Amino acid sequence: MKKPNQKLIQQLQKKNHRDVDAMFHTAHNEVFACTDCLSCANCCKTTGPLFTNKDIERIAKHLRITAQKFIENYLRIDEEKDYVLQKVPCLFLDANNYCGIYEVRPKACREYPHTDRVNQQQLLSLTAKNASICPAVQDILNSIQKKIK
Ligand code: SF4
Ligand code: SF4
Repeated sequence: MKKPNQKLIQQLQKKNHRDVDAMFHTAHNEVFACTDCLSCANCCKTTGPLFTNKDIERIAKHLRITAQKFIENYLRIDEEKDYVLQKVPCLFLDANNYCGIYEVRPKACREYPHTDRVNQQQLLSLTAKNASICPAVQDILNSIQKKIK
């Protein structure tokens, strides 16, 4: 974790969780209003989501294959016993950074980078980790940092 992020995370841990949510949500809206994910796609290129059973069933149905076939073709089980992509970049990402299963994409993709959730204080470590993957997360942290100085 970058040193300035580490210091900020420590400061945020001591604040009221509602204030932390308010700071994150304001910064999230400001940053994503001027972020073009289609010119980035770093999350889809380098990490990929975990897939819940509901995700698997929904996407398999969309692709008109069985859930078992979808798992065989695209997924593996990781160290935490979650279904994740067999490889990255995600096979559903096209050359123009569009998601081929956008309408039925996993919940984790819909919620990434988890900066507009309830109780951001519980996600501070994850957020600091995501700052090295997602430039928008780093911008959000920078914006919060400026406001609490
Ligand atoms: S890494 Fe962040 S900025 Fe880049 S595409 Fe993903 S969510 Fe958007
Ligand atoms: S399913 Fe779509 S949004 Fe999710 S990682 Fe793959 S390309 Fe990106």
